[in-house]
Amino acid sequence: MNKHAVLHNWTRRQFMTALPAIGLAAWSAPVRADALLKETDQEALAMDYHADAAKVDAAKSPKYKPGQTCTNCALYFGDKGAASGACSLFMGKDVTAIGWCNAWEPK
Ligand code: SF4
Repeated sequence: MNKHAVLHNWTRRQFMTALPAIGLAAWSAPVRADALLKETDQEALAMDYHADAAKVDAAKSPKYKPGQTCTNCALYFGDKGAASGACSLFMGKDVTAIGWCNAWEPK
């Protein structure tokens, strides 16, 4: 067995030994919920985000069409039935399922 094969086997063995510990650490790590985006946050203001699409003033937000919400937006990744979830536009902050912003895209 050459030097590289020994190193490869050692690394693989080490990895296999550590795997249960890695899995346990990941399982037991506290799950941090993302903060909820506020309408007053700078990034929200920039995208005309509303936490409740029903309150969007169509005269002030001409891109808005009735029926558009985060839930049916292609950028929304919230769990079905959840009140809020992740949006790929606002990284690190959740948006409300009933929200809307002017980046809405159909699914
Ligand atoms: S991009 Fe889509 S999911 Fe994100 S806030 Fe705007 S409408 Fe909601």
